[in-house]
Formats: sequence, structure tokens, C-alpha cells
Amino acid sequence: MGAMGRCLGLRSIVLVCVAAAEAAASGPRHAYAAMMSDPVAKSQTMLALPSNMVPSPVTSKGHHCSSLSVTYITRPKLVEVVGGLLGVTKLSSTCAIPYEHSASDAVAANNTRLAKLSSALSSFDQIIDSAQGKKIVLFLDYDGTLSPIVNDPEKAFMSPEMRAAVKNVARFLPTAIVSGRSRDKVFEFVKLKELYYAGSHGMDILVSSTDSQSKTKDDREAKPFQPASEFLPMIIEVNKSLVEATQSIKGANVENNKFCVSVHYRNVDKKDWKLVAELVDNVLKDFPRLKLTTGRKVLEVRPVIDWDKGKAVEFLLQSLRLDDPESVLPIYIGDDRTDEDAFKVLRERNCGYGILVSQVPKETEAFYSLTSPSEVMEFLNSLVRWKEEESPKVHDQE
Ligand SMILES: [Mg+2]
Repeated sequence: MGAMGRCLGLRSIVLVCVAAAEAAASGPRHAYAAMMSDPVAKSQTMLALPSNMVPSPVTSKGHHCSSLSVTYITRPKLVEVVGGLLGVTKLSSTCAIPYEHSASDAVAANNTRLAKLSSALSSFDQIIDSAQGKKIVLFLDYDGTLSPIVNDPEKAFMSPEMRAAVKNVARFLPTAIVSGRSRDKVFEFVKLKELYYAGSHGMDILVSSTDSQSKTKDDREAKPFQPASEFLPMIIEVNKSLVEATQSIKGANVENNKFCVSVHYRNVDKKDWKLVAELVDNVLKDFPRLKLTTGRKVLEVRPVIDWDKGKAVEFLLQSLRLDDPESVLPIYIGDDRTDEDAFKVLRERNCGYGILVSQVPKETEAFYSLTSPSEVMEFLNSLVRWKEEESPKVHDQE
């Protein structure tokens, strides 16, 4: 067992590479079909390795929109308690720092990349300068970005002012919501039909029928892209098991997000956090094709496919024919660890900007930062003012 695993007193690390030769996504057509590749058919079990020897997840190489594919990845399995937070055995350096810090953590982490990040508000002119001659495409996380983080995830409402800001900016810029929530749930919160929606961490994407690029009636019909559709029965089953396993833990809340399940522990007494982790980990013993990731006081149970918010961004850009870096500038705003996948895609494509919403320094792939949803609203309103000044009579960037 690795040193960290021993220190934390939880059971041995076992990484399971899952065979998935039978995979086949249902439903998608034209562009989608070309994006699906044969999954990795490989099965092996390894005992604990030092973190620097843990194999990287299987990922599709190239990472360009034109080569998008769905593959199956190595499953990080062990839930750990790291610095008072639940975490998952890291598979890459981007997961090195837990994603919700105390004030003292903030001081200790003062030399992380965020310390060098500029505010997206004070750098607004610079951002706009780099968008000259390009179309900005906006990607917005929901919880903690458009809405405040609240104790009851069912009550994470966005303010009417924020909704108006998003509605206004969508008049000028293609705008997508990319959330870990189910697509239906996040739409209930946002309530704006003019946006694109990617729910379940990008595993349920609806490209709106208003997509002006579509030529035929058939293409204009709204059609969800669901790369994890085969996992639906499994998610229903694991959701039931997680509800049963955690029902005795006061404050634990299991949320079915359709293609993934969230176990919220924000309202659980801190002394029981480890117990929550162990219970969830125990349930997952029966689901080797599901993996665990962490967010802000939440454990996320997800299929072991190599699909995340970053892939969702690439998919949307390609579907909307907005994937030419010479003419398009994507901006992604998010607050959570899962948003790092999207920040990373933009950084690696060397086009567009990730904007991290955080009050404290965090290790991040983002380029800029905003401190709160209210600053996000200010940024969106600044974009609206810029577009109105640029073309006061034209309500479209075309
Ligand atoms: Mg969030």
C-alpha cells in the first residue's frame, strides 16, 4: 500500500482496468457516429503502486474535435480523507490540491497558480482585444458559478438578475450550460430555452433545434448526445444502493443526475465524512464499471468512460461548427474540479480562456479568475455592454 493510503488507514488501492468490449452508444447519428471509437478492451488488476507509478488513464490521443472518441479509463477507486476533505486517489498532478480550502489553506497555497491569475474583470479589455475578429462562445458551469453554493442542492436557485444577465449575453454569444446536474434539473434552474445544455458532466448534451447551421428538418430536431447511455440501468441501480447505504447518515443526500450520481456530504457531521466515503466505496465494489470523483463536498459516481466537461466542450464546439480557433474564442467559467477538464482543453488547444470562480488560490488550468457568482454576473454584463457598444443595432455577432 502506498504511504498516503497507509497514513489514511483505508483499504488497499486496487485499480481496475475495465473490459468494455460490448460498448456501443445508442442513438447518435451523423457526426456522433464518427466520434465513437471502439472502447479499450483490456482487463487487469494491480495492487497498490506509489502515486508516481500509477498508470495514466486511457485517453484518446490528439484531443482535437475531429478525433473525439469515447474510451474507457482506469478507475481510481480509493476514497481518502485528505486535509479534512474526501478525495480520490490522484491519477494526475492536476488533482493535487483538494478543491475546497479553509482560510489557513488559502494562506498556505498562496504561491499556487491562482496567485498569478488576473481577475477576468480587470483583464476584460485584454480578453476583448484577443477576441477581435473572432466569435466568443460561452460555456458556463451552474452550481457555484451562476448560483451560490447552498446547503440544500435542491435549492441552488440562480437570482433573477443572473438569469437576465445570461439571457442578455446569449442574445449576442452562443452560450452553453455545462453542469454535473442532470440536464433536466439544470434546465429547471436556468429556464432559458435559447441556451445549449450539457448535463451529467457532459454525458447528456442537447444541441438546440435553433442551431442555425443545421440544414434539414431532421437535423434541426433537438437530439441529445448521450455517450454513457448504456450505463443508465446501472446508474439507477447504484443510486438505489447509495440511498440505502447512506440513509442512516444524517445530512447525507444522494442525487440521481441521470448518467451519474452525486453523494452530497456538505450537511454531514465532519466526523462522519470518512464513514460516508467508506459506505460509497463499499457500494462501488459491486460496480466495477463506475468510478468515483470529487467535487465541492460531493462524491460523484460516474461511468468509467473517458468523457468529461472538456470533451463536452469539444463536442459542442464541433457540433455547432465553432471549432476553428482562428475564428472562435471559447470562454469557460466554472468553480469546480470537474471544470478543470474544460480549462485544460482550452489551454491545450491554445484557444480561449478558462475562468476559475474561487475566493481562494487553487491549482488550476484556468487563465483568469473571478471571486464569486456576483463577479460572474458582472463579467457577463460587461460582455453585453461591449457587444451593445460594438453593434448597437445588431443583436447577433454574425
Ligand atoms: Mg460548479
